[in-house]
Amino acid sequence: MYTIPILKIVSAASPNGSNLFDSVNLDTLLSFINIALLVKPLLLKHCSIYDPVPPLVLPNNVRQFIHASLDMEEKTVDDLWETFREEIWELEFDVDDLTETLGTRYIPLFLKHGPSNDIAFYNFSPPTRTCLDPGCDQEVSQYPLVSRPRELREQLHVPVTVFTNSFGAVTGHSISLYCRSEYP
Ligand SMILES: [Zn+2]
Repeated sequence: MYTIPILKIVSAASPNGSNLFDSVNLDTLLSFINIALLVKPLLLKHCSIYDPVPPLVLPNNVRQFIHASLDMEEKTVDDLWETFREEIWELEFDVDDLTETLGTRYIPLFLKHGPSNDIAFYNFSPPTRTCLDPGCDQEVSQYPLVSRPRELREQLHVPVTVFTNSFGAVTGHSISLYCRSEYP
């Protein structure tokens, strides 16, 4: 079941800049959070699985996409991310639940503003973010005798069309990751 604990999020966050909520009502904030959750797979390339903190700032294409979709000042997009990024990052939902629940409301925005910002509604990520080859493990820099699976990098995507029962044909990205090992 997809529900956002919005009051908990609002009370946990402390806006940096006292007038943030002058220009943002709860409905807009909820849309911001929903869109951030939908584009989260694109944000993962900006952080490590071994240091799972949200990016400090949004990538420019995501900022532009939200700015256009919600008709919101870019500075407000940045302020909302800065204020709520930790809370948004902790929200974990089943991707199918998320897309099924949010599709009707947000797909039109993704179709209208997504292509020019290289953003699609569906994002198909690999099931793992580390190399599956145990010989490819890498040492942890702080602890020379400890090794761990090598993190896959260089996220790339190709555009795909997704044919869905619920929404018809919708834009998607098929995401790939690469192992930069010199291990033969
Ligand atoms: Zn590898």
